Amino acid sequence: MTTTLITNISEAFTSDSNHTLIRDAAILIRDEKIAWIGKSADAPAADTVIEAGYRAALPGWVDSHSHMVFAGDRSREFVARMAGQDYEAGGIAVTTAATRAASDYDLTRLVMGRAAEALAGGTTYLETKTGYGLSVEEEARHARIASTVVDQVTFLGAHLVPAGLDAQEYTDLVCGEMLQRVAPYVQYADVFCERGAFNEAQTRQVLSAARDAGLGLRVHGNQLGPGPGTQLAVEFGAASVDHVNFLDEADILALAGSWTAWDPATRSGAVGTVATCLPACDLSTRMPFAPGRELLDAGVQIALASNCNPGTSYTSSMAFCVTTAVLQMHLSIEEAIVAATYGGALALGVQDQVGTLEVGKRADIQLLNAPSVAHLAYRPGMNLSGPVFRAGKLVAGKI
Ligand SMILES: [Zn+2]
Repeated sequence: MTTTLITNISEAFTSDSNHTLIRDAAILIRDEKIAWIGKSADAPAADTVIEAGYRAALPGWVDSHSHMVFAGDRSREFVARMAGQDYEAGGIAVTTAATRAASDYDLTRLVMGRAAEALAGGTTYLETKTGYGLSVEEEARHARIASTVVDQVTFLGAHLVPAGLDAQEYTDLVCGEMLQRVAPYVQYADVFCERGAFNEAQTRQVLSAARDAGLGLRVHGNQLGPGPGTQLAVEFGAASVDHVNFLDEADILALAGSWTAWDPATRSGAVGTVATCLPACDLSTRMPFAPGRELLDAGVQIALASNCNPGTSYTSSMAFCVTTAVLQMHLSIEEAIVAATYGGALALGVQDQVGTLEVGKRADIQLLNAPSVAHLAYRPGMNLSGPVFRAGKLVAGKI
């Protein structure tokens, strides 16, 4: 049993419920887990000592929403959108064609490359979704490939009705043979409940079928306008509803209601539906930001995630999401970091394993090339990513 001590950390932000910040900190790692955290001066002896060089430490990011299984390039669509064209869900079809044409080898390499970029940026726990296959064979292939690279896979066969198919017939396929074939590779199922994608009845059908198959649930909801997505997510006990740009008072009340049996001080009790805000997507689509501040104030647990995808948010930088959440959504730096670490873990159901710097958690630790975590928002756009540890091992960056 070997131990490693990371010492001379300028400050360690733990993402615990008290937003604890330890100055002059050290972290002891044993058996891939955090065994001790406290002041450097009080640190126990260890087999190996790593000098942090007075850099700040925080938990590795937990990115709970990405779409990394894709091929092709949609930069021209982005340029057109910046020139004033509207975003419509139909752009997904462009990626579907390119992704279907990519070999297993090429697609695996693409996903691995994107996961490596995320890791270098401090993301130590990564979810990704299917949803660019949209046929039984392709969705199963994408889920299989994703499951070999990332930590969790979500089935998003209900991303878009492929051109030429009847919406109801396609929904039946998603809920039947497609779900059956994909289920062995995934932990959750998701549905894009939106005008132009899946309506309320179809969303209910997908969520019911996925629940019956034993999968956890998520909803892409209220991204492009008001709609039933958020309240359906709460009704079905979904782990998260993602995007949440266009919420009315009833939506926020429904979300808050899902957390009434949760004690935020002890982080125990019944887990509700996490509202996952995707600020990089909101920026890239020039949409109004999700009301992260209002959700927090209403007692809703929120997550920040990258939504890394080729159409509306081609970045896996969680640091950028945190910066934006602070500068534009009026979160404090502490709230934003908690949402990007513990919040993501809650949305993925792994809050007992990752997302905080606490004894017993997996030693997923990132050091910033900065003396304080406030620099994440104070120095927007700067790459502050330093060494990244996953399960106690240095996996990116240099000491
Ligand atoms: Zn998404």
